[in-house]
Amino acid sequence: MLSQVVQLIEQKQRFMITSHVRPDGDGLGSGLALYWMLRALNKDVDVVLRDRVPPAYEVLPGSELVIVKDGLNEKYDAAFIIECSDVDRPGLEGLKDQFAVNIDHHSTTIPFGDINWIDSTAAAVGEMIYNLCKALGVEVTKEIAECIYTALLTDTGSFHFSNTTERTLKIASELVRRGVEPACISQALFYSSSFSRIKLLGLVLSDIERDESGRIAWITMDRTTMYQANACEEDSDGIVNQALSIGEVEAVAFFKELSPGAYRISLRSKGKHNVAKVAELFGGGGHRNAAGCRIEGDFEEVKRRIIEGLQNAVGVAPVSA
Ligand code: 5GP
Ligand code: MN
Repeated sequence: MLSQVVQLIEQKQRFMITSHVRPDGDGLGSGLALYWMLRALNKDVDVVLRDRVPPAYEVLPGSELVIVKDGLNEKYDAAFIIECSDVDRPGLEGLKDQFAVNIDHHSTTIPFGDINWIDSTAAAVGEMIYNLCKALGVEVTKEIAECIYTALLTDTGSFHFSNTTERTLKIASELVRRGVEPACISQALFYSSSFSRIKLLGLVLSDIERDESGRIAWITMDRTTMYQANACEEDSDGIVNQALSIGEVEAVAFFKELSPGAYRISLRSKGKHNVAKVAELFGGGGHRNAAGCRIEGDFEEVKRRIIEGLQNAVGVAPVSA
């Protein structure tokens, strides 16, 4: 819990911070905000990630300090593991041997850390990091504010999702008071697409499908389509949300072919429909309205199982073949 984290930071000196593979706005924003807070306290800190910072997040203060590697060769006083369901999610060799501080807001997270601070009421880990900043008595600088704002903005879908609370908006307001310019951050995050991403969006959206009820839709991106758009994997991030913008659609899937027979699946839903439960059936996890998993097998079979899972989640009677 929070008090243990504060005590640890006060007592120790050398820290590392990491988050999950394919880092997102909350993992990066929260991690870098924590970096600036620890630096303000004159601590030694490394931010280590398995995957590089996606270009859209290069505006984050400190993003250029991120060390990209797949293993740790030194022992830190403690490792802060942000937004990870288990100790393997960061994809770092040697992380298991560190004193682990698990900081997360997913209800599906297992308490794998030596310290576990999990708050499933937080819209983003960024909210928790803001509270930590206050608890440590560190001043919320512009750097810290920009990082936390990015975490809030991305994990709430620009304050559209149901996890957006009065607390979220209060913190966001305080961050603006501390120097964040909302339009600048939105511009960097949402109006900075590559040409190939928009090309890819066009290709995959033209093949969007739905079930007979019209309440479940899905989009597929195979390798051929990705190459055709001259796109990379990162270019597909967020495309899943496009399917959810259809009025009568309540749950969606995005199937991304990683290699022949291996797929990453992103799931999204509206309202009370729980897609984390669907992802968990396949070894993944996430939140009620945003979850993901990885499945290997024949594509038609993978697709059938996921769509059936979504139909169950939404309460659509599957149409038998
Ligand atoms: P995305 O679809 O953007 O990759 O992921 C959406 C949400 O699901 C995120 O909150 C992410 O943490 C969670 N998620 C995605 N993939 C996995 C996975 O393989 N395992 C777990 N536990 N969570 C995942
Ligand atoms: Mn998050």
